[in-house]
Amino acid sequence: MRDSIIIGQPKRSTVGYAVGSGCIGCKLCYSVCPQKCIDITKTPVVIDQHHCLHCGRCAEVCPKQVIEKRNVS
Ligand code: SF4
Ligand code: SF4
Repeated sequence: MRDSIIIGQPKRSTVGYAVGSGCIGCKLCYSVCPQKCIDITKTPVVIDQHHCLHCGRCAEVCPKQVIEKRNVS
């Protein structure tokens, strides 16, 4: 019997959307988010990475273009 080799932990998420400074709290991102996973009680708003689908809708509608696709760990 051969030993199994553990290569590494599977990556849970390698890319995500994050809100940068400049957010004006207009809530447009929240209104189009299918997951409603954006915390609009804060400014800048905060995307819950655990529920985000990475669909990019929020980034498309943001009038300030402060939602960026970036790598997250
Ligand atoms: S990428 Fe999609 S699911 Fe994630 S916060 Fe934006 S609109 Fe919501
Ligand atoms: S759409 Fe952009 S400016 Fe408006 S609340 Fe969302 S991140 Fe902030």
